[in-house]
Amino acid sequence: MKKLSVCLVLSLFVSGLLASERSFNSPDGSLTVTVTDNGGQLAYSVTKQGTLFIESSPLGLVADLDDLSKGVTLTSADEKRITDSYQLKTIKQSQVNYEATEAVCQVEKDGRHAMDVIFRISNRDVAFRYRVYPKKDTRVCVVKEEKSGFSLPEGTTTFLCPQSKPMGGFARTSPSYETSYTLDEPVGKNGWGEGYTFPCLFKTADKGWVLISETGTDGGYVGCRLLNQQGGSYRIGFPQPGEMNGIGSVTPALSLPAATPWRTITIGTTLQDIVETTVPWDVVEPKYAASKEYTYGKGTWSWIIKMDSSCNFNEQKNYIDFAAAMGYRSVLIDALWDVQIGYPKMEELARYGKSKGVGIFLWYNSNGSWNDAPQSPIGKMDRSAARRKEMAWMQKTGILGIKVDFFGGDKQPMMQLYEDILTDANDFGLQVIFHGCTLPRGWERMYPNYVASEAVLASENLHFGQGACDNEAKCGCIHPFIRNTVGSMDFGGSTLNKYYSADNKRGTVRRTSDVYALATAVLFQSSVQHFAMAPNNLEDAPEWAISFMKDVPTTWDEVRFVDGYPGKYVIFARRSGGKWYVAGINADEKPLKTRISLPMFEPKSALTVYSDDASLNGSVSTLKQNKKQQVAIEIPQNGGVVIMQ
Ligand code: CA
Repeated sequence: MKKLSVCLVLSLFVSGLLASERSFNSPDGSLTVTVTDNGGQLAYSVTKQGTLFIESSPLGLVADLDDLSKGVTLTSADEKRITDSYQLKTIKQSQVNYEATEAVCQVEKDGRHAMDVIFRISNRDVAFRYRVYPKKDTRVCVVKEEKSGFSLPEGTTTFLCPQSKPMGGFARTSPSYETSYTLDEPVGKNGWGEGYTFPCLFKTADKGWVLISETGTDGGYVGCRLLNQQGGSYRIGFPQPGEMNGIGSVTPALSLPAATPWRTITIGTTLQDIVETTVPWDVVEPKYAASKEYTYGKGTWSWIIKMDSSCNFNEQKNYIDFAAAMGYRSVLIDALWDVQIGYPKMEELARYGKSKGVGIFLWYNSNGSWNDAPQSPIGKMDRSAARRKEMAWMQKTGILGIKVDFFGGDKQPMMQLYEDILTDANDFGLQVIFHGCTLPRGWERMYPNYVASEAVLASENLHFGQGACDNEAKCGCIHPFIRNTVGSMDFGGSTLNKYYSADNKRGTVRRTSDVYALATAVLFQSSVQHFAMAPNNLEDAPEWAISFMKDVPTTWDEVRFVDGYPGKYVIFARRSGGKWYVAGINADEKPLKTRISLPMFEPKSALTVYSDDASLNGSVSTLKQNKKQQVAIEIPQNGGVVIMQ
């Protein structure tokens, strides 16, 4: 025995380090993170109820001031309970009570306290980040590589959105984070060679689900992606060199001391924890106060059905009238309005809108020099002087907000541009929607005037190609579980036209039902929704559909996962005030026949049900819940259901 321990001490001495290992539990004890510095290299693993969900995976940074990925020791760890309570109207849940264990792990290199690894462990999420300290007089550093890895157990399958290569696609605007997901594929691929866009969903055989993403990213770092190493091992990747027209570095620079963005891992034995997580907002703080009380709601948008030529004075007046008829608060006027309407006539439109109780969102090109997107207004958002002058005009004119398009990737200067647009817009009381853009990373809480981002294969593709229409329901059954669960999604959906064209007689054909349109108004979360409806829908759409679309909320107090599987079908319940909306859609060829439990409704209560027959003809009926608070539902392929009390 003595001999053995001498050998052990000797071998540890030879390796130069005494391994230190610490474990931390979530408040309810279900999630456990174990951190070790074995061999001078930091690693962590995560279990849920004793089952390993993240196998031993690397931690650490390689910075120019120090290589903090090896030769490091974990010297101590301070552990404490964090509680926070916050209100946010712009996310899936208006009131969040956050409770987590915070563990600050001190890391030494060559006897110097060089870095902390900070963990936040709630009952369903693990978040971690690094705090890097100055080294003598060296107070800035470049992070050359982030080692943070995620090693998934054998048998894991993937639900991922491949990152596109830079400077491709329309007017060299990629990556725009809107490629098609692959579903239930084995691990081991690296997308199209460039990894994957966050968030990334994994199914760990029969154990449960893991959603990996990041949050808290601002102009102090780069936006990251997930790269496959081999097998089930993934790691954080920095932007691609070609992004932003090749301008700027792929590596972030820090002014020390500084903390990196959070890496987040949400773990659920079912999809419930994935759907209901609030981790993107739990671990970030507001960066400034709202300059006014921002309001939210529905709007109309001509471009999606009638394209560029519709951005003229008369058509926009029609869409203001349409918004007023629907009781909506805004109209979104898309590209080329500066040429096709002009500034003086826009002021006239704004006055007309005001007389009807309808505000205006205006489209802008983000460029700049990062791609060839030609649409104007251009050169108004990329630099502060022109931007603030434009925003002062908007404020004077009574414009509600902006939709800024065609961003150039995830390098640090581009992340700074997002932040600068938001910060300036708040000074002028403007809400901000981003398009052709990256995933928002906690931005609803960080920037109070931020509304939503595209960062998804959105409704424009339904206009552009029949293939997207044929696949609409399949994509619709993916986004609520992945893209939309970590950030507000500006999809621009709920089309009630049969065809994507001004005369509703030609163009791409919508395959989904009217009830599907209603259900996605509930399933797709954004506090400001510019729906793809057209004025003709007041005459040609069913009265019950119009009436529903007039009333449906865009802000929610609560979400509950009811049932579903990514790419096949999805049923959620969302609550607004005292009213629950249960919404489902089905992409599977087979009609979905199931019995769902709806404990949010009183037993035996009479429910209003919007549903489709086998030919996708929708109707409204009433249904009585049984004593067990269950109802039987049937949703045909491309159809939907909405249940309300
Ligand atoms: Ca787009």
